[in-house]
Amino acid sequence: MTWSAPCARIDHAALRHNLAAVRRFAPASRVWAVVKANGYGHGLEAVAATLAEADGLAVARVEEGVRLRRAGIRRPILVLEGMVFADELAAATRDDLALAIHNWDQARLLARGGELGVPPWWLKVDTGMHRLGFPPAEVDEVLGYLANTAAGSRLVGLLTHLAKADEPEDPASERQCAALGEAAAGRGLPLSIGNSAGLIALPAARSDWVRPGIMLYGASPFATGTGADLGLRPVMTLQTRLIAIQSLPRGAAVGYGGTYVCPEDMRVGIVGIGYGDGYPRHAPTGTPVLLNGERVPLIGRVSMDMIHVDLRGRPQAAVGDLATLWGVGLPVEEIATRAGTIAYELLCRVAQRVQLEHDSPAVGDGAAG
Ligand SMILES: *Cc1c(COP(=O)(O)O)cnc(C)c1O
Repeated sequence: MTWSAPCARIDHAALRHNLAAVRRFAPASRVWAVVKANGYGHGLEAVAATLAEADGLAVARVEEGVRLRRAGIRRPILVLEGMVFADELAAATRDDLALAIHNWDQARLLARGGELGVPPWWLKVDTGMHRLGFPPAEVDEVLGYLANTAAGSRLVGLLTHLAKADEPEDPASERQCAALGEAAAGRGLPLSIGNSAGLIALPAARSDWVRPGIMLYGASPFATGTGADLGLRPVMTLQTRLIAIQSLPRGAAVGYGGTYVCPEDMRVGIVGIGYGDGYPRHAPTGTPVLLNGERVPLIGRVSMDMIHVDLRGRPQAAVGDLATLWGVGLPVEEIATRAGTIAYELLCRVAQRVQLEHDSPAVGDGAAG
């Protein structure tokens, strides 16, 4: 059965290649592979199983960690936001999910522990991002407080998150790394700093544990350039079909609002993908689409289920032809730039209605990892 609906091909060999690239950038670090947001849109369980060589997996929320355990993943899992509710603490304890503890509410909950005991935890230090974490000045106090509780012996390490790792020339990142070092001085605990941009560009962020996300999926964390420039391979290739062709006269207005007006008699292709699939609605006229491997420009407004492309100079184009929106041959970073966003958003917003097709996935259930 051949479907005309969009499909995201997930290249698991590329995923493994990109993990090897992480190891080359940070050879002395252990790696939390970040698989939050459904593996950046690539499928949580499938990605986690393929990344069996990673030392651990990191997710945003307890619920994501529980899903990984249900899938049989037995490696260390770090929950980057920790818990909010006692139920989540109990689930983390039951499933052996390490929690990032970043505020006093969590510290008090952790101090009380649960019937099951306490899970492993990392202390999150706010060295300048000002999102989650204890100020460095409170680290002594919170660690002292928790040292005298059931949680005391389950502290694993200290982590922080960089606000400007994608701007490596900015001295803020070095300052953040130094601040974590000071907060950790004399404690003999492992540290975790670098995300993708940090571990690529900033030696000081190649800490005991690094936390790459976007680079595993083959995209660059930086504002310019692509993953290929960093030796990465795209993991997701988003594809669909040409579902109709219109022959329109000069002056015909195309799509909602008629924002594109045909400058001459021309053929316009209708491609079966839209913002309801996660294609960005703000992709403007001129955004490239690959049709049978060749670039054609998008024209007019993106609809929920369709886009239009300019077929001038493509007399061979026919209904059923394969269109690639991003991935192999068309970097997702380029589409993101055109649409005024970042590759992260495009990848993790691919809608549930888009089928994920896994190429060369991990054999077995990944549980061995
Ligand atoms: C998402 C996230 C990461 C991964 O960031 P990338 O830029 O995708 O490499 C690392 N650490 C934390 C705390 C995160 O929230």
